[in-house]
Amino acid sequence: MGVSVVLHEMRPQVETFAHRTGNMAEMVCSNSFRSDDHEQNAVGLLHWEMREAGGLLMRAAHAHRLPAGGALAVDRDRFSEMVTETLHAHPNVRVSHEEISEIPDDGQWIFATGPLTSDALGQAIARETGTDALAFFDAIAPIVYAESIDMDTAWLQSRYDKGETEDERRAYVNCPMTRDQYEAFIDALLAADKTEFHEGETAGYFDGCLPIEVMAERGRETLRHGPMKPIGLTNAHKPEEKAYAVVQLRRDNALGTLFNIVGFQTKMKYGAQAEVFRMIPGLENARFARLGGIHRNTFLNSPTLLDRQMRLRGKPNVRFAGQITGVEGYVESASMGLAAGRMAAAELLGRSLPEIPQDTAHGALIHHITGGAEAKTFQPMNVNFGLFRPVDGLKGGRRGRRDRYKAYTDRAKSAWSDWLASQEVPA
Ligand SMILES: Cc1cc2nc3c(=O)[nH]c(=O)nc-3n(C[C@H](O)[C@H](O)[C@H](O)COP(=O)(O)OP(=O)(O)OC[C@H]3O[C@@H](n4cnc5c(N)ncnc54)[C@H](O)[C@@H]3O)c2cc1C
Repeated sequence: MGVSVVLHEMRPQVETFAHRTGNMAEMVCSNSFRSDDHEQNAVGLLHWEMREAGGLLMRAAHAHRLPAGGALAVDRDRFSEMVTETLHAHPNVRVSHEEISEIPDDGQWIFATGPLTSDALGQAIARETGTDALAFFDAIAPIVYAESIDMDTAWLQSRYDKGETEDERRAYVNCPMTRDQYEAFIDALLAADKTEFHEGETAGYFDGCLPIEVMAERGRETLRHGPMKPIGLTNAHKPEEKAYAVVQLRRDNALGTLFNIVGFQTKMKYGAQAEVFRMIPGLENARFARLGGIHRNTFLNSPTLLDRQMRLRGKPNVRFAGQITGVEGYVESASMGLAAGRMAAAELLGRSLPEIPQDTAHGALIHHITGGAEAKTFQPMNVNFGLFRPVDGLKGGRRGRRDRYKAYTDRAKSAWSDWLASQEVPA
């Protein structure tokens, strides 16, 4: 867009526990950008949008693609070298290898320092935003698509029917367990494969967010007295039956399409999680918008801190982008970079930039992190169709899924193309 940029990168002078080189766009773990299916998959749609916008990362990924079925996997070294060389060669980009440790008062800035933001900068951000608004570990409970919960088994009720309005009194989905089901669930939790923390990623758990399997290891009854306690809840389908334990799910977005399993942050491996959580009555056919995890991850409480332009409300010369905004994964982070870059450039050039449409994958993510998500329980989010506004008149449930996803992606592509076209400057 013709704007001159200084790109500050602290590596290789200051290292992180995960990176190995001083190059840009180093992929620290998997070499995959996940599904490239832009008709049936939300991350594939994000690829499509980034490609249409001329994004460098998608260009480099395609240039160094490896065979991986429907996934977009790359040769990580060639990919990262191409991004690095392109940026170094760009006449408007100057790369400066240094750590930034303060938030400047003037100039236009985009902070995209990622899950492993340096300590000094983390402290500066916390001073600016307040310590409650910046987290250093995530504690992600699995998120389920509301439509995949069996409401013939589960029911809606808040504990002790608390709440001023009917909506609040019915704010939670409750899944009941008998004693046998509970015991089998605890056995499965204890036996499941777990992920270890990476070397250097020390686990700073505090008691409020222990993984459920660690709670189960502390005693078979611990969960029944913690997140699975049955008190104050009456099974709407069988009022005479007292549940031995109850798993609760709480709404995760304003659209009401996603629910998180309350208190179920976990280090179980993904395959094990789906198997164990489908043992919960009412979740036998659950589809997961994302599975749980706990990682070293510096991220902002974006719903309270960022405006729709991804600017810090209290300091609008500063934008945030990438994983630090509370999205998760290579692709989501890169897409938030693309969006923030365009916003900052438009502001510098004095051009008005129409809001990114909410029905696009970029727009759905931005809408979620800057307001659609529940601020109190905000945790990092992957892109998924649960973030999209429903398309009217389509069949719900498993059977309608192909048509529904196609309708989401068609609608998104058209909105994204219009949004891009609206920025083209007439010759
Ligand atoms: C151990 C680990 C494993 C992961 N595995 C996967 C995976 O398999 N798949 C996946 O999709 N995602 C994975 N992720 C997440 C993925 O790394 C992030 O989603 C993505 O890299 C975030 O992109 P970003 O641009 O926001 O931040 P980053 O890619 O982290 O880039 C931020 C850059 O800012 C630099 N920086 C930090 N602080 C400063 C400072 N103060 N001054 C100057 N520069 C600074 C860093 O050196 C870094 O180069 C993993 C993350 C970690 C930590």
